[in-house]
Amino acid sequence: MSVELNEPGLRDFGLMAEVSEKLFVENLETRFKANEIYTFIGHVVVAVNPYRSMGDLYSDRVIDQYRSNSSYNLPPHIYSIADSAYRNMRDRGEDQCILISGESGAGKTEASKLIMRYIAATSVRSDSERIKTIRDQLLNANPVLEAFGNAKTSRNNNSSRFGKYMDLEFDFRGSPAGGVITQYLLEKSRVIHHAPGERNFHKFYQLLRGSTPERLDQLGLANNPEQYKYLGAYGSVYSIDGVNDRLEHVAVRDAMQTVGFTAEQIDAIDQLVAAVLHLGNVEIRGPGWPQGIALPGADPSAATVVDGHHFDMAARLLGVDRTALAFSLTHRTVKDSSRAGADMRVGLNLKAAVNSRDALAKAIYDRLFSHVVHTINGNIRRDVGEPRGSVIGVLDIYGFEVLQTNSFEQFCINYCNEKLQQLFIERTLREEQLEYEREGVQWNSPVDFFDNAIICKLIEERKHGIIDLLDDECLLPGEVTTGTLMAKLNMAFGEHPHFVTRANHRSDKTLGPCDFRLKHYAGDVQYEAELFVEKNRDTLFRDLQHCMNSSTLEIVRQLFPEGPATVDLKRPLSASSSFRKSMDELMNNLLSKHPHYVRCIKPNGQQQPHMFDAELVSHQVRYLGLLENVRVRRAGFCFRQTFETFVERYKMLAPTTWPCYKKKGLTLEQAVHDIMQAAFPESGVQLRRESSGSTSGGAPAANALNS
Ligand code: ADP
Ligand code: MG
Repeated sequence: MSVELNEPGLRDFGLMAEVSEKLFVENLETRFKANEIYTFIGHVVVAVNPYRSMGDLYSDRVIDQYRSNSSYNLPPHIYSIADSAYRNMRDRGEDQCILISGESGAGKTEASKLIMRYIAATSVRSDSERIKTIRDQLLNANPVLEAFGNAKTSRNNNSSRFGKYMDLEFDFRGSPAGGVITQYLLEKSRVIHHAPGERNFHKFYQLLRGSTPERLDQLGLANNPEQYKYLGAYGSVYSIDGVNDRLEHVAVRDAMQTVGFTAEQIDAIDQLVAAVLHLGNVEIRGPGWPQGIALPGADPSAATVVDGHHFDMAARLLGVDRTALAFSLTHRTVKDSSRAGADMRVGLNLKAAVNSRDALAKAIYDRLFSHVVHTINGNIRRDVGEPRGSVIGVLDIYGFEVLQTNSFEQFCINYCNEKLQQLFIERTLREEQLEYEREGVQWNSPVDFFDNAIICKLIEERKHGIIDLLDDECLLPGEVTTGTLMAKLNMAFGEHPHFVTRANHRSDKTLGPCDFRLKHYAGDVQYEAELFVEKNRDTLFRDLQHCMNSSTLEIVRQLFPEGPATVDLKRPLSASSSFRKSMDELMNNLLSKHPHYVRCIKPNGQQQPHMFDAELVSHQVRYLGLLENVRVRRAGFCFRQTFETFVERYKMLAPTTWPCYKKKGLTLEQAVHDIMQAAFPESGVQLRRESSGSTSGGAPAANALNS
């Protein structure tokens, strides 16, 4: 049954005559080609990235339409979701969250911005300067985060390299009162390395191209990105089509000021970004290199830091002593067991010293990013004393990722997606169930779909899951090899249906000795365990930590606070267990809110408009579990309508209701009944008399079961 006769394809997948991947993708394609990029699955919005400006689609006029109508009567739109979240929040005082998922380049971040724009336009109805300021601060947080946390990748010219969750807080009248941003797992390895055709974080290029000559001079920088090792590698690109880094630099500084950064704070941040660029150009050579920095008391076997402009500038911009910096880059303090555990400085070889330089650069940038987020939060925080109204959370987080080689980062990202899928399954089913209970409608959940709890458990279970086994290995003193880790994993999960290695699948020649494959809900992913231990440990040598903490600059000391004297006093949180912790917090947070979902789809791999690659789309439909979503939806009642609207629209279908049921002496409910009898005598429909708090806005509703 089609609701809108003049609309291309089906506006709601719940109305499909038959559920199949092929028909699903065909419907998306039909709509995409007719400029309809949004489609519902019930209350879920599926969005296909148009890769072009959509004309009037997001204009103020359209915002007004969605604001003044019950949005599910209008064509599917990202605003439908934003509107129902906002209305629920304001009218029922219920916390809401909007979960946006999809693979890189599918349009998640753009969707999150459109949602914020809609909510900002809808919620600011007063002329209060304070409320307008809060709105502007919330909106301006995005460009700041993107400058520091986004980069050009092969899949998206403006790819977010971190996960973002933003709580928008409202007062009791529904006006913005503040916000809190949480960021997850910045891809800090990008600071030192990026793939051919990609770039480092936007901020580096903006700084070089947008700063005045005087400022560049102060920072000891050239305006040419090609001179910096961290920006230039084989096959690097330095510019992005249609993006002017120089103008962006100015725009981002303006946005930072709007958010509340002082000019001094902005300069201090730029100074550290410059220091990272210099660090990348610091040359390190073997022991005894003649142009090296002389270090009295150095281990003669230690690598040497070459003296020169970049090293000099790095030390200066970081506010640390040259000798101390050179020492901590090339040495490591250990306990000397032969001298009652006294400290002893052992030289690092060339490779280890290069690693320590890069580790420092990554740590500075990573902590700087957290610092930026923290400062934004300090500025956009709701006033103390302002009573807490309700909240709308917007989650824009990396989608399921399968790359050519998958490492620790993909492991974390895919774990996050397993958790979100778990939440989705639980919530979608539970929400349906609750709604039927509320409405007094009979419903059993007959849907047979894969419950991914087993994979979540495999990864996260305390003491027995992959994360804890990995931690056990990482926290052992001494050298850990990937081999011992693999042996341990094999022993623990050799029999597990979702864990595959060479040991339990000898016939599989694609698996190397240090590879393991997880059968994720969205598909199989093969991980290279090689760097897991190192990335999970994520420790910065105490020497570097100490050196940074001795800086004359307050911001540097803040980024590197003096921790416990030795790392082994307390079991430190590894990268994976701290990720697990933040996932737990996120899930608890999301569970406490009423969820809305946006599922983003990338129509082609070339970032081109008007191109629809059905195979690529099928893949995503599968990974996002969209067919299961339709099945859950259809197991329930996929079409819900108030009696009045229903009769108004379909009264021509029954002789007793045309032109007016009242004239024929029918009640409203009898009219609905007659229409259903006339048009769909076989369908499973339930009519529900009034109850408050229903989705149908308080009026009696008809529910048509499409089966
Ligand atoms: P993701 O966050 O999922 O990686 P983005 O939101 O950054 O993807 O989108 C990638 C690019 O696609 C954007 O920079 C923009 O050019 C384009 N895009 C995404 N959504 C839209 C949209 N609704 N309208 C027009 N262009 C879009
Ligand atoms: Mg993004």
